[in-house]
Amino acid sequence: MNIAAWLERTARMSPDAGAIFLGRAQDATYGQFHERALAVAGGLRARGVAPGDRVGLFMKNVPQYLIAQYGAWYAGAVVVPINAKLHGREAAWILGDADAALCFTSPGLHEALSAHADVACVNVADDAWRTIQEAPPLAAVTPRAPDDLSWLFYTSGTTGRPKGVMITNRMLSAMALSYLADVDEVTRDDAALYAAPLSHGAGIYNLMHVLKGARHVLPQGGGFDEDEIFDLARHFGRVHMFAAPTMVKRLTIAAKAAGTRGEGLRSIVYGGGPMYVADIIEAVDHFGPIFVQIYGQGECPMCITALNRDAVADRADPRWRERLASVGRAQSVVEVAICDEAGAPLPAGQVGEIVVRGDAVMPGYWNNPEASARTIVDGWLRTGDMGCLDADGFLTLKDRSKDMIISGGTNIYPREVEEALLLHPMVREVSVVGRPHPDWGEDVVAFVVADAEMDSAALDAHCLDHIARFKRPKAYFALRELPKNNYGKVLKTELRKMLEDM
Ligand code: AMP
Repeated sequence: MNIAAWLERTARMSPDAGAIFLGRAQDATYGQFHERALAVAGGLRARGVAPGDRVGLFMKNVPQYLIAQYGAWYAGAVVVPINAKLHGREAAWILGDADAALCFTSPGLHEALSAHADVACVNVADDAWRTIQEAPPLAAVTPRAPDDLSWLFYTSGTTGRPKGVMITNRMLSAMALSYLADVDEVTRDDAALYAAPLSHGAGIYNLMHVLKGARHVLPQGGGFDEDEIFDLARHFGRVHMFAAPTMVKRLTIAAKAAGTRGEGLRSIVYGGGPMYVADIIEAVDHFGPIFVQIYGQGECPMCITALNRDAVADRADPRWRERLASVGRAQSVVEVAICDEAGAPLPAGQVGEIVVRGDAVMPGYWNNPEASARTIVDGWLRTGDMGCLDADGFLTLKDRSKDMIISGGTNIYPREVEEALLLHPMVREVSVVGRPHPDWGEDVVAFVVADAEMDSAALDAHCLDHIARFKRPKAYFALRELPKNNYGKVLKTELRKMLEDM
């Protein structure tokens, strides 16, 4: 099945329902969304784009994004969404690797890309966008098989070149249906607010909202602005959004400063990086039980585990803190297990690599059989994340295997040290990494963004009070901000580089 058939289905049922909004203003009903997608698909076909061809999306979060995406899908093409914060050169590399036939662009990115790419670029803000819709529209959605590709997702590539994760129609439908079973309900009265890039998880979440006929709202500012989010939530009511943990923290700080409780925010799904217990407790205390956590990765998009809103807000279960520090239980369409380095399964309570299999797991990387064979072993996806399961199936992430610190032969999980430091009122943000040490292999150091002037002695005393002596940092470095990638993830590689240069 072509996953885009969900749009056709909703457009037939409720053609006059509002579908796409820019800020508060309606841009398209579901009927118009469907017709424009058919027109874009017709234009693509007229330009020689055949089923299975790749079509790039190098755009900010603009209303045309969803139309171009569904237009490409209607034509049977595979979309290649590219992070709008990448350099034109990097975007051109991805389009070359994907062997894309064409790329939709938005203003600014169009110029940045055209300087480097050979591929035809269609700027959705100029005449080219109108022209492409002037060809005869497709009469119907192009049929596709469940295992045909629909999305080529390039990983952020913290080491080496990014790899193209092959995402099929089957994976997307499994992910979306699992969302409705395990994460949250969606109704036609809901509004999906896209404050995080559409090229990533937030964009993947358009699917269940299309299926249920909900509204899609693009912030006028194009991205994450706390005040605009509060305003749009009040206006639309029943707003759903995906947010990285750092965005949740910023929302809590901003809401407190503005004296708002975030009226109209119905669900915030967080994930993509570690959420510290102190931060989520503060967020739930302020906004109420609106939070759900998911754990996923490009290779199994948004669909490994979920911690539902009751578990996130629970304070009654004797193990609620432990649960809150976990990423929840396996989503319905996948199996999750822990294995040792040789791939042998480990029992509950033991830390090892998290492995996943099921309908939401990728078949492999685009044109990269070696990396595919390393990552999918005996049908299981090796996530590269370390963690352990408890007897009830709750998964707790430790760290990515490469972030784990081994000091004097003992494993130290930076996350645990970070959690402890964040309990200190002086600490706004912190990241802990290993530093090469001649005797111990590595020792623990912490980079701290402090609210007041950093006092290392006070932090050391605090750690002695909260965690085992050997885990406490041997050095503290104050930073004005932590280096982060475009999705708000802390770049530990940069921190390690800073240590080398000291
Ligand atoms: P990406 O493929 O860029 O989405 O990155 C996926 C990685 O982000 C995972 O392999 C995890 O290391 C991390 N991650 C995703 N969700 C969570 C979560 N809920 N808690 C902690 N880390 C997460």
